[in-house]
Amino acid sequence: MSTKLNWIDEELQNLKDSGLYNKIRTLSSPQGAWLVVDGRRVLNFCSNNYLGLANHPRLVSAAQQAMEDYGVGPGAVRTIAGTMDPHLQLEQRMAEFKHVEAAITFQSGFTANLGTIPALVGKEDMIFSDELNHASIIDGCRLSGAVIKRYEHADPVSLEAVIRENEGQYRRGLIVTDGVFSMDGDFPPLDQLADVAENYDLMLMVDDAHGEGVLGEGGRGIVDHFKLHGRVDVEVGTFSKAFGVMGGVVAGKRRIIEWLRQRGRPFLFSSAVTVPDVAATIAAIDVLEESTELVDRLWKNAEVFKGEMQALGFDTGKSMTPITPVMLGDAKLAREFSRQLYEAGVFAMALGFPTVPRGMARIRVMISAAHSEEDLEQALAAFESVGKNLGVID
Ligand SMILES: *Cc1c(COP(=O)(O)O)cnc(C)c1O
Repeated sequence: MSTKLNWIDEELQNLKDSGLYNKIRTLSSPQGAWLVVDGRRVLNFCSNNYLGLANHPRLVSAAQQAMEDYGVGPGAVRTIAGTMDPHLQLEQRMAEFKHVEAAITFQSGFTANLGTIPALVGKEDMIFSDELNHASIIDGCRLSGAVIKRYEHADPVSLEAVIRENEGQYRRGLIVTDGVFSMDGDFPPLDQLADVAENYDLMLMVDDAHGEGVLGEGGRGIVDHFKLHGRVDVEVGTFSKAFGVMGGVVAGKRRIIEWLRQRGRPFLFSSAVTVPDVAATIAAIDVLEESTELVDRLWKNAEVFKGEMQALGFDTGKSMTPITPVMLGDAKLAREFSRQLYEAGVFAMALGFPTVPRGMARIRVMISAAHSEEDLEQALAAFESVGKNLGVID
């Protein structure tokens, strides 16, 4: 009997014992304020579907039409035969939407980071990375082979100190940060990071996956929020969150986008996004350009929910956006909290290590424009009752 895979059983058991085993739930409905999860109808506070676009009729019909016109599969990578008219239309529309020179799309935000960072820096170079950056930034940094120096979360003073310590030690330098940090819902003072980048002539990259469609005028993202147009070299975004579809984007200076068309490895070695996805994403831009109604409703819902949660006595951490962490600390408590919420008809995930640091487990509540006032009231009532039951609030 071979024993070479027994370590997996032991590791899985360890995860279960420490409350860190992922129980993956299954949906039998479209995304929306309400879901059917594991056969049960529940209120949804887990998705990144901030604007309710994932099941929006205009996006759905755009995808259907594209399927009629172009079929389903791309058939090739972008650089061989996988670039179809809609891919270029989307890139053009995205550049206009974000008021940047150019844009390139990838299969996902994850591959956008994996493609972009190694195209900008290599072994002789240095990356200055926020200590709480997303896993896909970390992986992109590692893949590049550059020396990685971490600075304290969202802190331009720490960033500058780390840069000074390492002056003269590298060929090129890149500062990289999340736009909105997905676990805490906060964002860095990007204007001050841009000042530092300019003072030391370093490239500046922001991954705005959770800010795209959320922050800035009508959802134009964190660079627009701070009015830093032209001062941030690379903006990574995703179409899988507020845009409700699938795909990644890099927006910024024309030279960088042109370089990524030549050297962004997932663009060259992994097939194009499907045209139905692309068409749905273009429809999402149409919806966002026509009205700020959805973005406004998202922020109003977030304000109401966060205010009421704080009034109940919950700790919502450092949230500055619709992402609302409910800080609980212990991973097992967070899991039990999530389980009891689910029993009460509210679907909100517990997050523990390695998604967040050990001892900082939480329920993360994702507010959406799709939620009605009654939905929010119902969720607040469930949080109050589970919070009292578990002794989290009085
Ligand atoms: C979600 C997320 C990604 C990944 O985006 P996908 O399009 O889902 O691959 C990348 N970066 C950050 C900061 C994210 O939050």
